[in-house]
Amino acid sequence: MFIVMLGAPGTGKGTIGGILEKELGIVRISSGDIFRTYVKKDKEIGKKIEDYMSKGLLVPDELVVQLVGNRLQESDVINGAILDGFPRTENQAKELDKLLSKGNNKVNLAINLSLPDNEVIARISRRRCCPNKECGEIYNLDFKPPIRDGLCDKCGSKLVQRQDDKEETIKRRLEVYHSTADELINYYKNQNVLKNIKLGSETNLTSNDVGKVLVEELKATI
Ligand code: ADP
Ligand code: ZN
Repeated sequence: MFIVMLGAPGTGKGTIGGILEKELGIVRISSGDIFRTYVKKDKEIGKKIEDYMSKGLLVPDELVVQLVGNRLQESDVINGAILDGFPRTENQAKELDKLLSKGNNKVNLAINLSLPDNEVIARISRRRCCPNKECGEIYNLDFKPPIRDGLCDKCGSKLVQRQDDKEETIKRRLEVYHSTADELINYYKNQNVLKNIKLGSETNLTSNDVGKVLVEELKATI
């Protein structure tokens, strides 16, 4: 099953995607994680990517499709994948369909998470991440604080704030998100695979609640 996670930065795509990965045994692929790895390991492409990321701008489609496309060829994509952060534009969605159709696959479900912008900003500025590549646990100082101040519960690494989680960059990322969100949501709506979920103060649903409900629903369909 191929699941696409849609939603603004900070809506919980990573957390919910992680729950689905663990409970359903489907690998989660995060375009942002792929890019952050490139920034660390590859001087040439990494530099180019970092230029866009640090400004909160979208990495050009061609590069995104190439790198995520390569990842989709790897052997752990057996039962499908949970795509987090990709596609982000209608063009990327079309390219994804092309990639999947080669293996006679398609997007089976697009989960659209929504959260008011002011809550997004509040959430992201309180987000902390474990920098250990094998761990990568995500925390929130309000909803999911680490047990020991500033340290990862799982591996003990010193938690960091992502460069692009600073308030100014968050605002730009939100603008960028809104500039392509509607076309993308409509694309999946027209394919009859869209599921809308509201989070935050409006519904009082947490990422964990949503994750659990989705797992139950999806287990019944697999
Ligand atoms: P978030 O969802 O919290 O914004 P991500 O880790 O998904 O964070 O993405 C971080 C950055 O990586 C984005 O701001 C953008 O620069 C780049 N990026 C990630 N996915 C894509 C994509 N599908 N297309 C273009 N750029 C992307
Ligand atoms: Zn850790």
